[in-house]
Amino acid sequence: MPRGNLFVMTGASGVGKGTIRGRLLEYHRMYYSISMTTRPPRPGERHGVDYYFVSKAEFESKIAQNGFLEWAQYVDDYYGTPREPVEEALNREQDVLLEIEVQGALQVKQTMPEAILVFIIPPSLSELRRRLLVRGTDSLSKIAKRLQRAQEEIRMADRFKYVLVNDQLDKAVSDFAAIIQAERLLQPRMTEAIARALSKDPALESELDELERIRRAAGEVGK
Ligand code: 5GP
Repeated sequence: MPRGNLFVMTGASGVGKGTIRGRLLEYHRMYYSISMTTRPPRPGERHGVDYYFVSKAEFESKIAQNGFLEWAQYVDDYYGTPREPVEEALNREQDVLLEIEVQGALQVKQTMPEAILVFIIPPSLSELRRRLLVRGTDSLSKIAKRLQRAQEEIRMADRFKYVLVNDQLDKAVSDFAAIIQAERLLQPRMTEAIARALSKDPALESELDELERIRRAAGEVGK
């Protein structure tokens, strides 16, 4: 049975993954996997919407139960993708979107080689620094750690199938949508359409027989 596509959006913190994801989900029907984290909520973030905010002990017990598709320690906290909802959505033939950092994305590539990894990069390191400073959600020391990590991650770009530059948001969103669309059209996903293309519709066939008969009667024979 075909399963849904698993799209993994990854890239450095501050590169705009969250914004691209938000825009994509407005227009594309996909199951978005809500991650679990030990990071405290930022103002406006809600439990069960932005993340499942849990204690370190809760996170570690889920690791022990093999409850994550992937998980990673990022800067000072844990982040992970709960396994079950993703598997269920894929089995319902729904496409799934994960928005996760690079280490986790590489774990998914190992365990689910069919996953489609999309690596988002900034136009430059300075632009990334500007965005992290303007966003104002992290302390200066956290920003420094995130920038250091971003450099290391961008050097790993060769491990991803697609690379997308987030220079202009609209362009990045439409590039991502193009990837989704192209992956949906890959030949192995089109077997039903191919079978349908070879099928005949008895009602339409008899109308067409009649049309042919009329044209023949009008003297088209041999033309
Ligand atoms: P933030 O603290 O800014 O919300 O997220 C920090 C980083 O963790 C971002 O790059 C974000 O994409 C990533 N992240 C969010 N959820 C997950 C997850 O479930 N697994 C992994 N590996 N990374 C995640």
